[in-house]
Amino acid sequence: MSEIVAAYTGRFAPSPTGPLHFGSLMTAVASYCEAKAQHGRWLVRIEDTDIPRIYPNSIEHILTCLDAFEFEWDAPIIFQQQRLDLYQQVLDQLAELQLIYACQCTRKMLGSNHIYAGTCQNLALPFDDQAIRFKVNDQVIGFEDALQGQQCSNLAVELGDFVLKRRDGIINYQLAVVVDDFLQGITHVVRGADLLDNTARQIYLGQQLGYPRLDYMHLPLAMNDQGQKLSKQNLAHALEIQYAPLLLQQALNALGQAAVEQDRPRSMLAQAIAQWDRTRIPTGTQIKGIFQ
Ligand code: GLU
Repeated sequence: MSEIVAAYTGRFAPSPTGPLHFGSLMTAVASYCEAKAQHGRWLVRIEDTDIPRIYPNSIEHILTCLDAFEFEWDAPIIFQQQRLDLYQQVLDQLAELQLIYACQCTRKMLGSNHIYAGTCQNLALPFDDQAIRFKVNDQVIGFEDALQGQQCSNLAVELGDFVLKRRDGIINYQLAVVVDDFLQGITHVVRGADLLDNTARQIYLGQQLGYPRLDYMHLPLAMNDQGQKLSKQNLAHALEIQYAPLLLQQALNALGQAAVEQDRPRSMLAQAIAQWDRTRIPTGTQIKGIFQ
């Protein structure tokens, strides 16, 4: 497996667990403008490994929105469900490094604090039909987030060994995201602040695999008028493509950017890139508004 190298490669990596909503549009716009303002590449990846959670027609909705908003991606869109062999190869590599083990603990056995105690670590259980856990170290992992500032965590203290493959065979997001960011040559990750506390896990896993470190920017989350983040669980409105220009203006506004003239999405994005100023993006992890 080899990596593609460019000075700036960003990406948008939605999970099809629901239709895209305003918060997803903010992530798409910010990752796109950041990459393009730096003359970088921008890629799209559909994170569809968790089959039971795929929401009907959401892949179609994502692709329709990407077209309607006239984003231009620099390589064919990849679908993680078609890349399961690659993730298995990395699991084999981690097995050789003795960094993973099979775990038979049930959710009930894990207790309420969600920190895995390493119960199965020395049992040498066979890998078939068991969850696969990745060993973490008692070490502080720090990184400087472009918007959220310095972050530190100790995975052994806060989380314990974590799952890379579930008992039902589903590859966990943490593994797929790290492998694909590497294989697609991603250098910069721009995504919602709800993923901020996943980052240390991804950095540590990447480190153990010898992958280069990425730069991170975690965007504040758009909240609805009840103070909940927009998500399918609280019925955030699906993006309606007939309002693409208006929604683009609202997303740029929520990202603190100067207004662009209402036009075709392609021209609006071109203008947004030309005047993109990341220092205007609100810091903090939430933006309150009347977002639906
Ligand atoms: N697939 C994740 C989501 O839709 C985002 C992954 C990422 O950007 O790292 O929440």
